[in-house]
Amino acid sequence: MQIENFIDGKFTTPRNGTYLDNYNPATGEVITKIPNSDNEDVELAVKAAQKALPSWADLPRIKRVEWLRKIAKALELRKDDIAMTESMDTGKPISLAKRVDASRSIANFEFFAEHAEKLVDEEYEMADATNYVIRKPVGVVGLITPWNLPLYLLTWKIAPALVMGNTIVAKPSELTPLTANLLCEVLTSIQFPSGVINVIHGLGPSAGQAILEHPQIKAISFTGGTSTGKIVAQTAAPMFKKLSLELGGKNATIILDDADLPTAAKGAARAAFTNSGQVCLCGSRILIDSKIYDEFMPLLIKEVKAMKVGNPAKENTDIGSVISHTHMEKVLSYVDLAKQEGGKIATGGGRIILPKPNSNGAFIEPTIVEGLSIDSRCATEEIFGPVASVHQFTSDDEAVRMANITEYGLAGSVWTSDLTRGKSLAEKIESGILWVNTWLHRDLRTPFGGVKNSGVGREGGDWSLNFFSELTNVCVKDE
Ligand code: NAD
Repeated sequence: MQIENFIDGKFTTPRNGTYLDNYNPATGEVITKIPNSDNEDVELAVKAAQKALPSWADLPRIKRVEWLRKIAKALELRKDDIAMTESMDTGKPISLAKRVDASRSIANFEFFAEHAEKLVDEEYEMADATNYVIRKPVGVVGLITPWNLPLYLLTWKIAPALVMGNTIVAKPSELTPLTANLLCEVLTSIQFPSGVINVIHGLGPSAGQAILEHPQIKAISFTGGTSTGKIVAQTAAPMFKKLSLELGGKNATIILDDADLPTAAKGAARAAFTNSGQVCLCGSRILIDSKIYDEFMPLLIKEVKAMKVGNPAKENTDIGSVISHTHMEKVLSYVDLAKQEGGKIATGGGRIILPKPNSNGAFIEPTIVEGLSIDSRCATEEIFGPVASVHQFTSDDEAVRMANITEYGLAGSVWTSDLTRGKSLAEKIESGILWVNTWLHRDLRTPFGGVKNSGVGREGGDWSLNFFSELTNVCVKDE
């Protein structure tokens, strides 16, 4: 199978004629060839997006809302396909791909359709004048996304950009291009206007960088690693592009001594190992009150050991492969480093070789490391795999200090039976998203994003609609 770029409503071969291999990480097999695009392809995509901009921007917002709903309906018809494709491309369990990836990709269009429909234009009365705020699209926008939640994160950007009247040049991760391609098939099937959404496949430093550098791309919405985020900012900021950066995390899960321990153990295990720990929000540092440490650890380990690592295509699999062999080596090198740093493996710790067809898959046991110092490399760097460290604290203040020790500030959770105590602690943690007694519980209207090196800006609800709008205030003096 070979996929192509999607430019001006047509599937288009890359100008340089070269392709990259795309693997299923759970089998090690090549499943697709994808365009190895460069700046010439980006140029064509930008031209198409510019051509489509005036008529798309001029449509009344309600017509764009209708288009979002049409896309959602058409994706719904291919929901099983989305889940299967995402599972094959990422190695994640099919049950997770159905429950999270496929459902949320559709929900993103439905949510932003409804949210934009309800958007009230602002007006501010003064004693002698009236201000009113008008929204215009930013123009052609560049959307660059990672591999961990491919269509979910791409549509989280596409839907608000579209509904506010922008046209799009998007680049999905080269490791997971297939559901973006499926979206393009869906757009074709509903005769979506040509050139409004263009998708370029290829590597970051070539195809991605060409998007960042293109002078006609007026905004960049990027989700990915913190080190790539620096390159994005260095390139886009001097060009005064609007910039949204959703970056890495090293999130704390805090278990207080008054928590319901079985529930907290389930929550902490889920937070650490969902999608093999490859969610930016994963709780990879579990901070436990020393008073309940000995009681909590067996419960946590029991939960982790019960997670079935297996063929992602099987419904009863809890944990699939990681994204690639290269990533597996990186994650396992952190397990080695943890041992050098004085850590002790409480459970897991190695690669798993499964029977055929997964004998060459990149599977790692869910791993918990005890005894690491809170400022060790393994406890502060983003591993982005199924490896979590556990640490003890003796007071709530110490828990806060430990939670805040890293360069990241994306998310975290606190587990307690005292909501006042839980909220007080959550409010002291330097992060954009905190949960009390839950994890990954999302209302799409709420602000989503990180502080410190986890990002700049917020997505979700009004924050996304504002990012993809240029706001103009008109102040009219009363007669
Ligand atoms: P990555 O930074 O390697 O790649 C992300 C995207 O950027 C890919 O499409 C890649 O091709 C592209 N890219 C790479 N170099 C580029 C360049 N020079 N110019 C333009 N584009 C370039 O990240 P990844 O490995 O795909 O994803 C994992 C990371 O993403 C983790 O750090 C994770 O925490 C983070 N993430 C953050 C969030 C969030 O919402 N904060 C969500 C998901 C993932």
